[in-house]
Amino acid sequence: MKEVIIIEDEKDIAELIELHLEDLDCEVKIFHNGKEGFEYALSNPFDLMILDINLPGMNGIDVCRQLRAEKVNSPILMLTARSEEIDKVLGLETGADDYLTKPFSVRELLARVKANLRRVEIDTQSDTSESVISYKGIVIDKKKRKVSLNNERIELTPKEFDLLYLLAANPGVTYDRKDLLNLVWSYDFEGYEHTVNSHINRLRSKIEKDPTNPDYVLTTWGVGYRFNDIS
Ligand code: CA
Repeated sequence: MKEVIIIEDEKDIAELIELHLEDLDCEVKIFHNGKEGFEYALSNPFDLMILDINLPGMNGIDVCRQLRAEKVNSPILMLTARSEEIDKVLGLETGADDYLTKPFSVRELLARVKANLRRVEIDTQSDTSESVISYKGIVIDKKKRKVSLNNERIELTPKEFDLLYLLAANPGVTYDRKDLLNLVWSYDFEGYEHTVNSHINRLRSKIEKDPTNPDYVLTTWGVGYRFNDIS
């Protein structure tokens, strides 16, 4: 059973989400206060958090940022009221995996929840594909879902890991944003391409010495991204 934490002060919305998540066989815990939810999440592992932004106690951006600072890397889906908040939500420091703009449809909600609950098994190649990829100081262990850089462990969220693994397993292959949205987030809604951009930026800030001049995750101008294949 998947453990889901909902932090949302609008009780109707929280209950609506809970109802649909229980249909998906999730164990749901609801908080109407940001600080209470944050404290619970610190000591109780979860598979997904659905997090509102404007909350009493502590706002959603701070909840997300501080959980990431405490090395809690479970998926976090933010609920945003206005589309202008998206850049902030998915910004480098916040650390959210995904977002949903209110008002949302149940269909949209369920698609997002499923996509974020799924630990994507990115098997773009056959079983013979290597489970440990090593390239210029970076080591990506697929089975352990662990990344280290010059022997130091790098903490990545599940989506950051999936993104890096997909690219690194196929060095030199360019994926456009739609491909990545499909393969990593497993949905194909229009207009969510900047979810990809912000994850690439965050990934680079964690693994690249100079994120503006990356060694690993390269930009294919006007198309998308690829992993370096020059030895
Ligand atoms: Ca609210």
